[in-house]
Amino acid sequence: MTSETPENITGGCLCGGVRYIITFPPDFSFESTTCQCSQCRKNSGSLIMRSLNVPLSALKYSSQDTLSTYRATPKAERGFCSKCGSFLSWRNESEQTISLTVGAFDEEVLSRWGVLLTDAKTHLWCEDEIPGVTDHLKGEKWKLDCTGEGAERMN
Ligand SMILES: [Zn+2]
Ligand SMILES: [Zn+2]
Repeated sequence: MTSETPENITGGCLCGGVRYIITFPPDFSFESTTCQCSQCRKNSGSLIMRSLNVPLSALKYSSQDTLSTYRATPKAERGFCSKCGSFLSWRNESEQTISLTVGAFDEEVLSRWGVLLTDAKTHLWCEDEIPGVTDHLKGEKWKLDCTGEGAERMN
């Protein structure tokens, strides 16, 4: 156990309309994941989407005037800023957790805690990875999700 973990971090969208603070529970395991599903790719505009899954109760918005949501699938909600377009979160509504895009964490947070917060060793939806472009990641590759029915390792 190391004490070198943050108690809380801040983040938000590009224009500042959405701001939040995450207060980590004492037993929190800092493990981000990447998602290569075609929806996250389109939604983020990035080849690989990276997020940190936290308990819903750990997230408090200090400003959410421009927070909006979009459903690409019936059970999952994507949070974004309706003014500047930042993609901020993904949540399966049957779970009490929310995945926050790590690129929306504040710069000083990433400077200090970037490795801890973003070093993903679990990669989801690798079924959709692009040969020669996004198939270089090291760690556990899962065909779709890594939990629940149909979870299947690729390596
Ligand atoms: Zn914004
Ligand atoms: Zn995805």
